[in-house]
Amino acid sequence: MDFRIPASCLAVMERLASCGYPSYLVGGCVRDLCRAVEPHDYDLTTPASPAEMKRVFDGFRVIETGIAHGTLTVLSDGDSYEVTTYRVDGDYSDGRHPDGVTFTTSLEEDLRRRDFTVNAMAYAPDAGLFDPFDGQADLAARVIRAVGDPEKRFSEDALRILRALRFSATLGFTIEKNTAAALRRLAPTVRRVSPERIREELFKLLAGGFSRGVLAAYRDVLFAAVPALASLGDRYPDAAEAAARLSSDPVLSLAALSSPLGADATAALFRSLKTDKKSERRAALAVAALAAGLPSTLPEAGLFLVAFGEPTARDAIALAAALGRPTAKTERALSDFLATGRPTALAELAVRGDDLSAIPARERGEILMRLLNLAATGEVENDREALLARALNKG
Ligand code: ATP
Ligand code: MG
Repeated sequence: MDFRIPASCLAVMERLASCGYPSYLVGGCVRDLCRAVEPHDYDLTTPASPAEMKRVFDGFRVIETGIAHGTLTVLSDGDSYEVTTYRVDGDYSDGRHPDGVTFTTSLEEDLRRRDFTVNAMAYAPDAGLFDPFDGQADLAARVIRAVGDPEKRFSEDALRILRALRFSATLGFTIEKNTAAALRRLAPTVRRVSPERIREELFKLLAGGFSRGVLAAYRDVLFAAVPALASLGDRYPDAAEAAARLSSDPVLSLAALSSPLGADATAALFRSLKTDKKSERRAALAVAALAAGLPSTLPEAGLFLVAFGEPTARDAIALAAALGRPTAKTERALSDFLATGRPTALAELAVRGDDLSAIPARERGEILMRLLNLAATGEVENDREALLARALNKG
């Protein structure tokens, strides 16, 4: 077993070694190296205590925010590495966070606290792979298996329930039978997980190339994590299929899943997961646009673009396509419309509020919108004189 490790990472390991401390790559990066996938980051574990680590990296640029949990972030040649002291977690009385952490000098103990066997391997160039829980075998069999007793591990930390689904959806691995049974039984406890962490795992799950199977097999777990989805009922399978087709865009994927519930419920669902406002608005607008009915003629396309704008129109088409609805006519109508150069926003209209001084100020906004719709449908040219004539005659 010989992996290519970045030189800046080896430099951190060599620094520890020169001070007498072994260190290992651990967690997701070892899993990915074993799968011949380039890791997106490299985490290290060492028996050096937090105080010892600080001495070892004296003179390096470091970030100490995680030090209470034993993690020192070390900057090496522009890259950053999290170095964590071998650790065992204390009791989990809230079902989510350990009451405290204890440091240990046993690498095996550190690996034992980790969630799944494929995430519980350690590697160092000189020592090779250390794999006391047979993560290699589970990688080869493409299986997500809890380290130790799954029931106990999910009771300690309910986030692991969602992580199991997430890894299954991203790696395409099946969840081992006992692990799956335990997470199904304990699904109601995902309520203990913060909305932010649920969102993070849910978006990673939806972005996974293998989300389809997970969404189909674990709907009850998903409903426990996002209770609003439970009211989908019979509409769930089609919505889940649409969500799986949109894995390249997880915000739209979740919008697809929630689309049968309507725009308001979609906005509420995104809010309940504490997503950013931009994603919430985007999802709700896409669902509203879909519900408004997609345009199929040139004038309809104009009105649709005035109402929703082009980005939302594109999102609504993507939703419709994922839901298996025909979109060819809409796409043609939109591209034909865009070729006309007609206006779809007030800023593009040849008339402004100031041009309507003959009309009471409070009526101008509504009149401008009417003119915009007329110009968008082609009933009136987007020409100042023509629009003003229309406004003053029939305003
Ligand atoms: P990713 O590729 O998404 O970063 P990862 O496996 O590296 O996946 P992280 O969340 O970065 O996941 O966590 C790093 C490692 O820490 C995991 O591989 C696992 O060993 C351990 N770990 C993380 N979260 C938990 C948890 N809730 N319970 C137990 N172990 C965990
Ligand atoms: Mg990671």
